[in-house]
Amino acid sequence: MEPVDTDVTGPEKHDGEPHDGEAPSGGEAVEQPQAPTLGELLLAVEELWPESLAENWDEVGLVAGHPSAPVTRVMFAVDPTLEVIDEAVAWGAELLITHHPLLLKGVTTVAATTPKGRAVHRLIESGTALLTVHTNGDSAVGGVSDVLADALGLQDVAPLTVAANGLPEEGIGRVGDLADAMTLGDFAARVFGILPSVAGGVRVSGDKDGLVRRIAVCGGAGDSLFNEVRASNADVYVTADLRHHPASEAREAALNGRPYLVDVSHFASEWLWLPAAAAALGNVLADQGHEVEIQVSTTNSDPWDFILTPG
Ligand SMILES: [Zn+2]
Repeated sequence: MEPVDTDVTGPEKHDGEPHDGEAPSGGEAVEQPQAPTLGELLLAVEELWPESLAENWDEVGLVAGHPSAPVTRVMFAVDPTLEVIDEAVAWGAELLITHHPLLLKGVTTVAATTPKGRAVHRLIESGTALLTVHTNGDSAVGGVSDVLADALGLQDVAPLTVAANGLPEEGIGRVGDLADAMTLGDFAARVFGILPSVAGGVRVSGDKDGLVRRIAVCGGAGDSLFNEVRASNADVYVTADLRHHPASEAREAALNGRPYLVDVSHFASEWLWLPAAAAALGNVLADQGHEVEIQVSTTNSDPWDFILTPG
């Protein structure tokens, strides 16, 4: 697959220097930033994306790694695929933070004869830790849907569902208003423009010339939130993985044609969060006196490679 085609890059770029994986020796220069241990880095992650914000069906947190190991390089990615893990290992990351869990369902083997087993082996054999920040990263302030709302220029943003164990501004999905009404066609072009380029593009259901202003968003698969979207009086709902029945039933139930639907790539909608997450983690670590290089994966892990359309 081609790398992600986007202008957005992580906050720090690899300088091409060889990477020895050693923590700086302490002692003579106590004011110098230090590489944190993985355990210390997990505390910074918990500050930004507390595990208590995760949905109860989710599995978040550390998947592989020694808390005592020093971390000098961190890579963010959407999916813990082998290609992504290889990218992290090649760059010398001691920690890979992915949005999607590697092991969401129970397993009875991690033998290297299965794809997930190969991933576990590659991580452990290379000394690369893996951390999942999933629905806790969706729900948090500055989370996946917050970043999406911000990139679309939404104002007065609130969650579609307020988090059970969080602040009023935390929860799944977001709804807010554009500064000015625009046509659905122009709005869809804005959505297309902010996302990384993927084969599936952007699909839209609704009147291209209809005016929209109130926008609901949910990064990743959001077809369980139609009741909340309707209750929010949104003109448009932007989410991913909209299947035939939920989408067509939502269109049948629409009032004055609204909410219109904008169906985007699951990967693309969540990838947008990565540079913001990398910057946020870099800031927290810098405040704590730690020096860590942080990079966003350039691997496109969207499963689709090409599309045929009429005309
Ligand atoms: Zn997702």
